[in-house]
Amino acid sequence: MAKKVGIPRALFYYQYFPLWKTFFEELGAEVIVSDRTSKQILDDGVKSCVDEACLPVKLFFGHVINIKSKVDYLFIPRFTSVYKAEYICPKFGGLPDMVKHSLKDLPEIISTEINLHRSKANAKKAALETGYYFCSDKKRIIASYQKALASYREFREQVKKGVLPLDILDRKLTVLKKPEDTMLNIAVIGHVYNLYDRYISMDLINKLRKFNVNVITIDMIDGSIINKKAENLNKKMFWFFGRKALGSTFHLLEEKNIDGIIFVTSFGCGVDSFVCDLMEKKVRQNSDIPFIVLTLDEHTGEAGMNTRIEAFIDMIRWRNKNDTDISALG
Ligand code: SF4
Repeated sequence: MAKKVGIPRALFYYQYFPLWKTFFEELGAEVIVSDRTSKQILDDGVKSCVDEACLPVKLFFGHVINIKSKVDYLFIPRFTSVYKAEYICPKFGGLPDMVKHSLKDLPEIISTEINLHRSKANAKKAALETGYYFCSDKKRIIASYQKALASYREFREQVKKGVLPLDILDRKLTVLKKPEDTMLNIAVIGHVYNLYDRYISMDLINKLRKFNVNVITIDMIDGSIINKKAENLNKKMFWFFGRKALGSTFHLLEEKNIDGIIFVTSFGCGVDSFVCDLMEKKVRQNSDIPFIVLTLDEHTGEAGMNTRIEAFIDMIRWRNKNDTDISALG
């Protein structure tokens, strides 16, 4: 019988799921994903995780609880770095231990370290370490990893063309339409796990689409462009997310084809606290593009969020039509 490997539908699920799914399936494992985020999952996460954790980590706990009794293994990689000479938030590094020491009745956790800080080649090492849980044939593991990389590249290509990850992951057939002239172009900047979780983001992206907004996210911008633009920072950005968020924003500002920027952050995020500040400063210094920050936490009310989005869109349309002197503070 195929071994079942559980993947919580949270954090880097929204970035790497196509890669992980192909990899495990090629090795003969059955991939089980936790249910879509619900109030129950969020409440379970909030109750079982330390109060100081950020919302996405609390939510991750809820997804582990949702899936832990249904699988033989839980895949919780220990992410340290996903890009040369950069780190990601340390909470990712501590995640397997946090889960192990906070929750009971867990299956075995596969907590392979993913650390590309020194070299990309470490990814292959991590694949081998993970693959040995399911098979002892090194060649087969490498072949599965190559196929997984191909699935990941295909996924990334679709995203770059403008298909949102949440549509691909939900297997929605999206027909790409050329944005109409009447549409507003709004950059929605934030972590994938905040933007693409419909429950926690209160379906922000679809709400914007209903307002006839063409949503642009970091994932749609070519990595080489982001890298180039991030060089404009006085100092090299230490954090992976910071470089991507700022590099893509600089690019969009230069292109002059966005009408507004929404920065989505979650309460308790240390990385966002300075990335958001820095971004706001840069946007204000270099443009008069409206900028708004939406903070998500377990208490965020949907009505309040809707009002802010609506007011922001109205203000942009009004500015575009009538008066560019209207405050861009959002
Ligand atoms: S980057 Fe922020 S939101 Fe993401 S895990 Fe770290 S603290 Fe949480």
